[in-house]
Amino acid sequence: MKIHEYQGKEILRKFGVPVPRGIPAFTVQEAVEAAQKLGGPVWVVKAQIHAGGRGKGGGVKVAKSIDDVRRLAGEILGMRLVTHQTGPEGQIVRRLYIEEGADIQKEYYVSVLTDRATQKVAFIASSEGGMDIEEVARVSPEKIIKVFVDPIIGLTTEQAQAVASGIGLPEASVAQAVDLFQKLYTCYMETDASLLEINPLNRDSKNQLIALDAKFNFDDNALFRHPEIVALRDLDEEDPAEVEASKYDLAYISLDGNIGCLVNGAGLAMATMDTIKLFGGEPANFLDVGGGATPEKVTEAFKIMLRNPKVKAILVNIFGGIMRCDTIATGVITACKAVNLSVPLVVRMKGTNEDLGKKMLAESGLPIISADTMAEAAQKVVAAVNAA
Ligand code: ADP
Ligand code: MG
Repeated sequence: MKIHEYQGKEILRKFGVPVPRGIPAFTVQEAVEAAQKLGGPVWVVKAQIHAGGRGKGGGVKVAKSIDDVRRLAGEILGMRLVTHQTGPEGQIVRRLYIEEGADIQKEYYVSVLTDRATQKVAFIASSEGGMDIEEVARVSPEKIIKVFVDPIIGLTTEQAQAVASGIGLPEASVAQAVDLFQKLYTCYMETDASLLEINPLNRDSKNQLIALDAKFNFDDNALFRHPEIVALRDLDEEDPAEVEASKYDLAYISLDGNIGCLVNGAGLAMATMDTIKLFGGEPANFLDVGGGATPEKVTEAFKIMLRNPKVKAILVNIFGGIMRCDTIATGVITACKAVNLSVPLVVRMKGTNEDLGKKMLAESGLPIISADTMAEAAQKVVAAVNAA
């Protein structure tokens, strides 16, 4: 799960990480009032969307008067902000953050994340802040410092000092940096984050450090222990189909293709998408209905797939293990009738009560195309799309 910058900064504040004073605003009037409350002489008007690169896209602007704040807030609020992270369709700006302007001497990059290769938490930093870190990694990888943290010990003072000197912080900032880095690590661990990124971490002309941006990703599997973080969820920033699917406990991810996939088990769902691609098709989604899919759940899954206007055919691929094929057949038949299925449907099922399930589908009177192997199913669904 992701949150907005202003929410992230609120969390950082609680952990003692320095951030500028700021107030969120949902209207131009609120933005003006926020600026008045903060006091000048310089403010930054910041679009709040769940994507980075806002500055380059025109979503972060400096204001030098209250009139500037009013004008910029009016321009940014409601704009379709396109950044390298939003995709070409962009994201509508519905919230702003009005922040006091910082005195920028030098921008650094700091992040904490889970590194799968070492199975440890990685603490990453660079002297090249304010830029795309992927670009820094590509052009000058030697400018990225990485240390791996022992979970029992945490980020040690020695490690934090090594990072501080590795990114070239002046002596006068090192003690503050060590403290700040350790607080970031604690914050990352205690909130069950999977990514905490400060880009940029600013050093001002007095060598004081302050986080000017804050990006958090949280581990969804740990959200049950953080109701205060769940409360920060902004559904406007999420894919509507994915939000709808999560209500029914369906693991659904929207993709760009035109073949809807309904599968049980994440591994089989991945393999199904691979097979579709192997035969020249493009999946419209990843969908794992889980082990205990009821006819109601299967119906909802069909509805969500069919709400996508790009879907030209559907492939159902089920392994009847714990779930029996006749149960799935009931679900598919009920769903097809409930949604008035209007696109070709290919069904492949294997496992417990397979024969019974196939018989039910055949006798249902529905125009279901059945397939025996995954290759056959994928070929049939690709052919159906091409014929459409
Ligand atoms: P994004 O990463 O989405 O572009 P940032 O919050 O990093 O958004 O802002 C982009 C740039 O704007 C920063 O690199 C920094 O130079 C500047 N900036 C952001 N917040 C402030 C602030 N409070 N004061 C001065 N400059 C800021
Ligand atoms: Mg940034």
